[in-house]
Amino acid sequence: MKKGLLIILSGPSGVGKGTIRRYIMDNFDLKLAYSISMTTRQKREKEVEGVDYYFVTNEEFDRNIAENNFLEWEEFVGNRYGTPKDKVEEQRKKGVNVLLEIEVNGAAEVMSKVTDDRVISFFLMPPTIQALESRIRRRKTESEEVIQARLQKGLSEMSKSDQYDHVILNDDVARASREIVDLINAKLKS
Ligand code: 5GP
Repeated sequence: MKKGLLIILSGPSGVGKGTIRRYIMDNFDLKLAYSISMTTRQKREKEVEGVDYYFVTNEEFDRNIAENNFLEWEEFVGNRYGTPKDKVEEQRKKGVNVLLEIEVNGAAEVMSKVTDDRVISFFLMPPTIQALESRIRRRKTESEEVIQARLQKGLSEMSKSDQYDHVILNDDVARASREIVDLINAKLKS
């Protein structure tokens, strides 16, 4: 059996990574599992523990670092986020494709660590910076200070988009999702 593909999806905060991920999982049959990260960030009202993230304390996060449980972890605007290592490998060994939705530094680390060629990476771009800002604001989950920090971080992330296999414009969820799925299918056939 072929090992599952590792699919990396990055993009600035507010670009719609979660929406694209859910659309792809609901509308296409890709034998795809989403890798649920661990984070020290506060849970947003609509988020579900064990579905969107494993929400943990700083102490729990430290323990997971000490026990070498992460494929990668990074700090992002004051919180830490990490990809649990064992689950990703277990799924891939079963032939399941695994989707990581992570920021640029973690993505670079994964790309350097995973040396087989069963990896494909996507960077999602907003149509405009205004669209990005209004999306973060619409979410109404962050303070003004955090919104500004996330926007700044997003600009710096966009300047690193050339480290990805594909840059996808999120001008329309269905269209962008289809483009990503077509590229994944082509990679699966290769
Ligand atoms: P948010 O707080 O908006 O859910 O996530 C902030 C950023 O952290 C997003 O770019 C998201 O993709 C990224 N992120 C989520 N989980 C992980 C992870 O396990 N590792 C890394 N490096 N980034 C993550």
